Amino acid sequence: MDGIIEGIGSAIEAISLVDTHEHTMLESERNDYAVDFSYLFGHYNSSDLVSAGMSPSLMEAVRLPMHHYRLQFVKRLNLRRYVPEPQREDMSLEQRWKALEPFWEAIRNTAYAKATLIAAKDLFGVDDFNTDTYVELSSAIAESRTNNWYRYVMKEKARIEIAILDLQTTEVDRSLFAPVVRLDDFIDVRSRQDLSFLEKKSQKAIHSLDHLAEAMRIVMERYAEEGAVGIKTALAYIRTLQYDKVSHHEAELAFNKIARHLGEGPSFFEAKPLQDYMMHQVIRCAIDRDLPLQIHTGLQEGNENIITNSNPTDLINLFVEYREARFDLFHGGYPFVHQWATLAKNFANVYADLCWVNLISPEMGRRLLHELIETVPGNKIMAFGGDSITVEIAYAHAKMTRQVVSRVLSDKVSEGYMSEDEAVRLARKILRDNPASLFRLPLDS
Ligand SMILES: [Zn+2]
Repeated sequence: MDGIIEGIGSAIEAISLVDTHEHTMLESERNDYAVDFSYLFGHYNSSDLVSAGMSPSLMEAVRLPMHHYRLQFVKRLNLRRYVPEPQREDMSLEQRWKALEPFWEAIRNTAYAKATLIAAKDLFGVDDFNTDTYVELSSAIAESRTNNWYRYVMKEKARIEIAILDLQTTEVDRSLFAPVVRLDDFIDVRSRQDLSFLEKKSQKAIHSLDHLAEAMRIVMERYAEEGAVGIKTALAYIRTLQYDKVSHHEAELAFNKIARHLGEGPSFFEAKPLQDYMMHQVIRCAIDRDLPLQIHTGLQEGNENIITNSNPTDLINLFVEYREARFDLFHGGYPFVHQWATLAKNFANVYADLCWVNLISPEMGRRLLHELIETVPGNKIMAFGGDSITVEIAYAHAKMTRQVVSRVLSDKVSEGYMSEDEAVRLARKILRDNPASLFRLPLDS
């Protein structure tokens, strides 16, 4: 089917994936949220609904259980992210479906909606999501709250061997996940309140710039002891990726401005030298601990974000300065895909991570993978990161990714670019061996 060479398709089906990036909710918490169809609207397709014209507060009312999860997620990761209030909290399942229906019909064409349908069909046995099926899908989701659901979906259905989890906790099921942690709190410092929070977190008084850097190091050491396999930074949601080289003095002036401010804190522009300085400190610490750094570049989840903040070329000074660091650049830098690919081609310390891309657009994923295969060494390409808060969407994404990789490698063989053997070996690297090696994950086989 679809021009996929059989040997390649079946080899890729058999590969047990190493998933570079997930936000999976803890299985122990899932019982509170997997109660009806709204469970499949935790993110991504919800942003398309808003893009289609649904009011954010109505969308939150329609997905009320996941609205509550969203609040908890934002709190756990200490994100400066606004979650709108639900318009109402008393809508029946039928009312919620009726409110959703026109917007669901509007977004049916997007890849986010396709992933939703794949999950509904393959995991809950419901062929479509519409007026006739929303009740059935809701019951199937509620009934899935059984023991070992994660193991079933991740291992048996998605065939994910291990997933790197970005949930700001190291207390995770290590047979399914390997944790990364964020130190963004130590970079995005803007107020006295932020400093107090960091004092609690590090158990260290912070009276100077050096104290702040020391507190960050203490926390990173603690995370590393607890088994974190990398550091994740997602600051492109709230600021530019341009982390200038600033002197200790400049950073200290900014620190002092923040520390002496008793009210609202200085503006971002005043705080920026401190933030830039701290990012450099985080990278140095990551080098000392031999931890890779996962960097969000490109598209931000949600609506009304500033895409120009997340251009990966803004990071070039860091790649030049920190040769010993390992930079895992996320999301194909979408839509800055060519610039992003060029960075992975140019710099030995830059890795091309396609996490999220095949869910945003499988067509973009195919084009980009074609381009990467022709431009970037095969030991630095990573083709799958589910990037989901639910295992169900991660499953759908894994399925979409296997199709993308099978199609592209089959094309490459048909074009005479590589042999079938070579294609299968490359598939194994980009779906499994490369991320395992970057994050030093011991695998079963
Ligand atoms: Zn993510």
